[in-house]
Amino acid sequence: MDKLKNVLREGRALLGVSLSEEQEERMLLFVHLLNEANHFLNLTGFRTEEDILVEGVLDSLTAFTLEDLVFVGKSLLDVGTGGGIPGIPLKIACPSLKLTLVEATAKKCHFLETTLRALGLEDVDVLCERAETLAHHPSLRERFDLVTARALGGLREILELTVPFLRCGGLAFYYKGREAKKEVEEAQRALEVLRCSIRTLREVAIPFRPRKTTLVLIEKKAPTPLPYPRRPGIPKKRPL
Ligand code: SAH
Repeated sequence: MDKLKNVLREGRALLGVSLSEEQEERMLLFVHLLNEANHFLNLTGFRTEEDILVEGVLDSLTAFTLEDLVFVGKSLLDVGTGGGIPGIPLKIACPSLKLTLVEATAKKCHFLETTLRALGLEDVDVLCERAETLAHHPSLRERFDLVTARALGGLREILELTVPFLRCGGLAFYYKGREAKKEVEEAQRALEVLRCSIRTLREVAIPFRPRKTTLVLIEKKAPTPLPYPRRPGIPKKRPL
């Protein structure tokens, strides 16, 4: 446990994120619960607590390096959150976030509910439904200040699954790999159709790993045309 605590402490300092002792304990408890449940729920591809901590939690926290992104008091929707990444680490680090987690698989939602309770994070909503369906609900469409997704799909697909939830002027941020630039080039039509523009593309080193995450920050300029997102499965099958 002490080793993990040091990894978290050094890692979050490298990212310029400050956490209290209690927040660090919560972060490590989250890592522990995710790892325990992972053996039978397949919540993440990471197989050890250290990998979950570095590649999952610290990766999530890279978003705090974007100075255009203000989290305090904002509403954030995390689409395809799986075991809660990046939404839960962001909420632990910034408790005033109004967090909503979207996850289509019921057993994963059950894990999220029990984990949020164990972590003492109460004001978080878990919605167990596909994003394509939820995005047409008037109470959710164009309602969020911020949206995010990690490991959900290609940029063209995730734009369609997330942008409809954003209010105009709201920001979407995505965690991408080495192909980020190419994905952005290929997403020009999707950006146009969904009335969005790129604000920033930023490579951030993951502490203790050779890998880098590219954060893609996008601003929504105008309301999403009503047909989007299309029916469940179509954004993936025929991306914009
Ligand atoms: N964001 C997490 C999980 C990525 S795996 C992480 O970074 O570890 C992608 C998750 O998205 C899966 O749990 C899958 O069930 C969910 N998902 C895929 N398509 C979805 C959709 N259209 N609506 C809601 N959830 C979806």
